[in-house]
Amino acid sequence: MIYNRDNPFTAHLKFRKRINGQESDKNVQHLILDIGNSGMSYECGDWIAILPKNNEKEVTEILCLLGLAPEMQVNVSFLNEKISIFSALKEYLCITNLSDQFWKWFAETRTNSDMNSFIIDKILSPDPECQAWAKSYSLLEILKKFGGHFKIEPDELVSKLRRLMPRLYSIASSPLADRDEVHIVVGVVSYTNAIGNRRNGIASHYLAHGVHIGEGVRIFIVNSMFALPTSAESNIIMVGPGTGVTPFRGFLQERQCIKNRGNKVGKSWLFFGDRHCATDFLFREELLTFKGSGILTNLDLAFSRDQGNKIYVQDRIWERREELWSWISNGAYVYICGNASPMAIDVENAFKRIAMEVGNFTEDQTSEFFKSLKDNRRYQKDVY
Ligand SMILES: Cc1cc2nc3c(=O)[nH]c(=O)nc-3n(C[C@H](O)[C@H](O)[C@H](O)COP(=O)(O)OP(=O)(O)OC[C@H]3O[C@@H](n4cnc5c(N)ncnc54)[C@H](O)[C@@H]3O)c2cc1C
Repeated sequence: MIYNRDNPFTAHLKFRKRINGQESDKNVQHLILDIGNSGMSYECGDWIAILPKNNEKEVTEILCLLGLAPEMQVNVSFLNEKISIFSALKEYLCITNLSDQFWKWFAETRTNSDMNSFIIDKILSPDPECQAWAKSYSLLEILKKFGGHFKIEPDELVSKLRRLMPRLYSIASSPLADRDEVHIVVGVVSYTNAIGNRRNGIASHYLAHGVHIGEGVRIFIVNSMFALPTSAESNIIMVGPGTGVTPFRGFLQERQCIKNRGNKVGKSWLFFGDRHCATDFLFREELLTFKGSGILTNLDLAFSRDQGNKIYVQDRIWERREELWSWISNGAYVYICGNASPMAIDVENAFKRIAMEVGNFTEDQTSEFFKSLKDNRRYQKDVY
């Protein structure tokens, strides 16, 4: 069976636990989904796509403000059957990030003159800054601002909303450890939007708070090119601060399983970092166990706010430049996972500086060297 966004598998949530300290200013959750009997398989480094659901309370409020009964049946263009407007808004359509098509339609069809002028002046403004600010209104926020009581055709509303897109999460486990489980690590997104309202990330909040243990989550596997070397004996260097450590937990589990079966595995080196050691050292016990068993040869840590001067993974990389260069020169694979910017850029710059200062490469030789590493899949990134 092939699963995708039109035909997702419903995996039951087996386990969920916050894995950073309560005092941390972030909230990071470890979840386990049951994929037994799905026929799905995955490799370390693959992603899981989650089809999230919108917040139920928000959907109920929208319907209330629009005076629409939750059970009214509507057509959703990409579904084969009619469903209730409540399900459409909760499970299939995006109610936070509204399209230009939506705003134009909303401006043309409403009778509320204050709202019409707001949309024309702000949302359709030629000033990109003003437009970006105004477009941060969600459906509920705009209805609340102008008091609701709009006469809206449910089918028309549904046709103007974007599809709720799946979110990707790096897989934190190895199928060799348990092929029926998929582990993920979710950083729960929460922020104040441009109009000053608290906004929760749809998928991360759904996974952290909106689904109960034992309940189904619609998922499918997305194969990635972010993969361990074909030979388990190759050495690997992994850079994964914060939730970037996720796929590397899978890599280490995989190598532990290979070793437990009596096979040789190469050396591995992890650079992990976050704000504070006491609250943000994700998978601390497991990583120290991997270090103790020799699966993890080196573990270098950078907790940026534990001292006066900020220390990041790229600083640790630079400190260990001689040994790192020796690993890379001898064929090690390099992996980077986590924030695309600035982390992945700073880390790449640190590696390039090592090539120039320790390897004595010119700038051109360094570019050529990294190009060949990338071409040979010896330099891989999973950044977002
Ligand atoms: C290949 C890949 C792998 C990934 N792996 C992981 C992983 O292992 N773990 C993980 O936690 N995430 C991972 N992500 C990110 C994940 O897919 C989601 O994007 C993330 O969880 C947020 O989704 P959400 O639905 O909760 O937030 P959304 O509802 O999509 O909201 C996020 C959006 O809110 C806005 N926003 C967020 N913060 C702010 C702010 N401070 N100010 C203003 N606007 C803001 C931005 O527009 C942002 O795009 C990965 C992404 C990719 C592409």
